[in-house]
Amino acid sequence: MADNQLVALVRAAIANIDIPGGKKLGNYPGLSEIIVTQSAIAFAISVEPGMEGAFGPVRAAAQAAAEKVANGHKVLVSLTADRDPGATESQPSKAQQGGGLPPKTAVPGVKHVIAVGSGKGGVGKSTVAVNLALALKALGRKVGVLDADLYGPSVPRLLGLDGMPVVRDDEFFVPQEAFGLEAMSIGSMLKGDQAVIWRGPVASSGLRQLLRETAWSDLDILIVDLPPGTGDINLSLCQQNELAGAVIVSTPQDLALIDARKAMDMFKKLDVPLLGIVENMSYFVAPDTGNRYDIFGHGGAQKAAKELGVPFLGEIPLHMAVREQSDTGKPIVATNPEGVEAAAFAELAARLLEAGGL
Ligand code: ADP
Repeated sequence: MADNQLVALVRAAIANIDIPGGKKLGNYPGLSEIIVTQSAIAFAISVEPGMEGAFGPVRAAAQAAAEKVANGHKVLVSLTADRDPGATESQPSKAQQGGGLPPKTAVPGVKHVIAVGSGKGGVGKSTVAVNLALALKALGRKVGVLDADLYGPSVPRLLGLDGMPVVRDDEFFVPQEAFGLEAMSIGSMLKGDQAVIWRGPVASSGLRQLLRETAWSDLDILIVDLPPGTGDINLSLCQQNELAGAVIVSTPQDLALIDARKAMDMFKKLDVPLLGIVENMSYFVAPDTGNRYDIFGHGGAQKAAKELGVPFLGEIPLHMAVREQSDTGKPIVATNPEGVEAAAFAELAARLLEAGGL
């Protein structure tokens, strides 16, 4: 069925739902556009602050009505109150810091959730997240990866994931599997450049459901690859879910900049323990001689970690093999477990377990 047909069906199915004030959902200006992805249908109902409770049944009715016509897609309906206008991206408002919000809850099927963040894109956050997950698995843990980086979902490419996750009868996703990891990516659900239309509340709520309505099978650790920076998705993930902690990935140059520190600041304000900093592309190992070159004046992350009182988890070398292997869906820790890169990730994983008491 074409996407626009599905949109029309959903619109018709939810149009006559009663909303507070005696009107119908179909004419309500707070109803967002309806987004159809490969495996999901998503929309948001935005309400005045304080009206969330009154609109709860509307959300439930919209969810049920949309599910009836969803044609195998998972339905993601979010209810959002307007954002505090005083809140900015880098300075979470009081409400965003936790005051007045519902308490954080544990993620079903997962013992410990660890977020991997960075100040900006391109520092190797996803590469580190995936290889760290594999290194944790090699240490005997049951591990999953959730790719929440809506604006650059790279886990499917890094792990060579194909196709879409299956939706079970009870509306839970079955996680995909690769190299012994359970994996889910927002990227598997998007078509083309859909990230640009999955804005704000729809994106946050879609990811919330991806996290909480995937049938993770008693994982010890779920690594969540966050979007870079301190945007809304990061805020809501940290506000709503119990996290064991966060890891920040940076390059030696990046820490000279303010971005990575801003990301750390966000985690602190949201009461997410900072488990440590990783310096990626830290030094260069010549493939022929094995000699090490500190091409970017490495050590910035270690210095910053010390200043900030955060554990320094380790350095990952800049190596063509890391790039080539990951870009072809063969992460280096799985394909060359005896190599120096895998050893660096193994050390990282061990320090992380220690830092988090996991
Ligand atoms: P981010 O998630 O921060 O945007 P990615 O993990 O997608 O970054 O990495 C960006 C690029 O850098 C990719 O092509 C990746 O293969 C490459 N890369 C990441 N880490 C390394 C490394 N240690 N050595 C060489 N290339 C790397």
